[in-house]
Amino acid sequence: MGHPIRHSLSPRLHGAWIDHLGLDAAYVPLRVTEGGFERLVDGLKGGVFAGLNVTLPFKERALVLADEADEAARRAGAANLLVFSPDERIMAKNTDGLGLFYAFQQQTPHWRADQGPVVVLGAGGAARGAVAALMAGGAKDVRVLNRTLSRAEAIAADLGCSAFGWDQTERAFDGVATLVNATSGGLSGGDALPTPPPATCAGAVAMDMVYTPLKTAFLQSCEHLGYAPVDGLDMLIGQARPSFAAFYGVSPPEAVDSRAILLAALAGQV
Ligand code: NDP
Repeated sequence: MGHPIRHSLSPRLHGAWIDHLGLDAAYVPLRVTEGGFERLVDGLKGGVFAGLNVTLPFKERALVLADEADEAARRAGAANLLVFSPDERIMAKNTDGLGLFYAFQQQTPHWRADQGPVVVLGAGGAARGAVAALMAGGAKDVRVLNRTLSRAEAIAADLGCSAFGWDQTERAFDGVATLVNATSGGLSGGDALPTPPPATCAGAVAMDMVYTPLKTAFLQSCEHLGYAPVDGLDMLIGQARPSFAAFYGVSPPEAVDSRAILLAALAGQV
């Protein structure tokens, strides 16, 4: 569920897993108006739906609706997964951090969360999940850089990282070793940053959560500057796996080549 939702490849991924296992289930995209989120969740809980994955811009509001939350969602202050039980209770989880680490493992196996300063661009629900997971994973110096400084400051107050606005990019980027784009700028045709990221040292990594297109303009410019690029597809897979298990009580099938399915879906969209 999100707004927008058309870009999401989650239905393709879950659909392929459902088909492979022959489950009597469907994973459908739901576009909800910004004001309608709470009402729709209220109508779907209580066993009407198994649950929801929540995408932009609702992850923080999703946590507020929940009766219980796992540690990752509580720490982040945002949830990408709501699991409904028949007694109307809502369990909130955050699997974005698992997805982020899975993406680094797959595409830059040498990467470590504590290899140096981490700059997270954006201060929405996905950024919250990323900052919480990076700090839990050993990152010592996490800096949130956002167009709206007050939202970055809110994350800093909650999680103990530091906050920067767009007029402070030079300080924010000093010595950066890991760069994570958690803005939706690439989706809306905007830019994640007012200026390009800085040239970098060997071993630095840049990750973009946006995967439509697979090589975003941001990722291309980072790669050009010497960062090892990590695209958003493996994060999608890594956060979807625990969601699938929560909805259907079974793990996604290992035999399915999830990345190949998503690449084919992206090729079809061109
Ligand atoms: P939110 O709507 O909660 O937050 C959006 C963030 O992007 C805000 O920080 C906002 O800044 C910033 N932003 C929006 N437009 C622009 C722009 N034109 N220029 C610069 N900054 C901009 O979204 P989420 O945090 O939920 O998601 C962020 C992105 O990450 C989405 O594109 C989503 O699809 C992707 N994502 C991908 C995942 C994956 O599995 N690959 C998993 C999770 C998220 P401001 O505060 O100033 O408005």
